[in-house]
Amino acid sequence: MSKSKATILIVDDAEYNIQTLSNILVNQGYDVLEATDGISAIALANTHIPNLILLDIRMPEMDGYEVCLHLKSDLNTQHIPIIFISAIDSVEEKIEAFAVGGIDFINKPFYLVEVLARVETHIRIGSLQEQLLEQTKLLESQNISLRKEMSNLTGLNWDLYADLKESIDNQELRLFYQPIINLKTGLITGFESLIRWQHSQHGILSPISFVDLMEATNLVYPIGTWIIETACQQLQFWHKHFPNHSDLTVNVNVSTKQLTEFNLVENTRRILSTYQIKPNCLKLEITEVTVMGDRDRTLQTIHQLKDLDIQFCIDDFGTGYSSLRRLTDFPIDVLKIDRSFIQNEEWVIVKAIGSLAFTLGKSIVVEGIETTAQLQMLKTLFSSSLDKCYGQGYLFSKPLNAEDAFQILENSQPFI
Ligand SMILES: [Mg+2]
Repeated sequence: MSKSKATILIVDDAEYNIQTLSNILVNQGYDVLEATDGISAIALANTHIPNLILLDIRMPEMDGYEVCLHLKSDLNTQHIPIIFISAIDSVEEKIEAFAVGGIDFINKPFYLVEVLARVETHIRIGSLQEQLLEQTKLLESQNISLRKEMSNLTGLNWDLYADLKESIDNQELRLFYQPIINLKTGLITGFESLIRWQHSQHGILSPISFVDLMEATNLVYPIGTWIIETACQQLQFWHKHFPNHSDLTVNVNVSTKQLTEFNLVENTRRILSTYQIKPNCLKLEITEVTVMGDRDRTLQTIHQLKDLDIQFCIDDFGTGYSSLRRLTDFPIDVLKIDRSFIQNEEWVIVKAIGSLAFTLGKSIVVEGIETTAQLQMLKTLFSSSLDKCYGQGYLFSKPLNAEDAFQILENSQPFI
């Protein structure tokens, strides 16, 4: 900003001081406004919005501090830098001047060079701040357009990306736990952990709104580790409180991409040891897509985790066209039969998947059990293998927060 365009408001009850300062500043090309009391100073500041105010402290009726407080509490004028002027060179006075919002202090009598140097410096700082603000606004609007363009191109919600990055630190991620019930005994044998995001503006988000974004960026790694760690910490808590549930298990869903994480095996080993979890109490749920994917790399990681004695489930089994041969290649312990077969009452397929699983030495979890009729049908279908047959669904319980899950374990009532 050139000097000729910078406007300075001088406020002093002594005409002589105003004239002296005014002469110095006008000679340097500044536009000058003058006020001899607080009320007119506030009025002038509001109508002209000067670039800087030189404000005397000692004035009758309204002193400089009061004027400053008025200006700083008004959205219209609070950004205007204020330099205080005083004849008294006291530390207390300077502290008060900064406390009410002043940015600098000049003592009377004035030294021409000092006044100009301070005025020029603050005008320059003000101008740089304005430029910075403009550039920030420009960048923000460019960012919004860029996010929109990326969202259109990728089909992902990039507006959520910055928030998702902060979600762990902001403690916005939560795990919910859905009970898994043994169909023979009706007792809880474990929980599947399910992530929810308590977003500050959008409320509780289910993974469907952010899982693709998490996968497309590398956020699946830290968030995936957070899930394993939180689930294991929770399981340790349950084991401690319920010694009769010492074999309680927790399931964690892991994606194909997560299985490619360099540190996954080491992180999992560390988490199990930190929370003293028996490895076979942790069950990782993978999908058929994982089983069908980059076989060597994924298999290697799964075998390393399996060597720790961690259990593996194939989630939503029956919907992903997996090759049956892969079932014997992968060290899988559990097939989770997709809910669609139960909902559509495709009992022949349910029976066939169960028989396949039992023949291969695996157990099953039937997902999406919602009615007693469905439960009765399953008990009839699998009457000879009910001990290897588990169920999950709203008939037993919806996913619960940690406190409600604790209550269910405390009640210790069979579900069947
Ligand atoms: Mg699952």
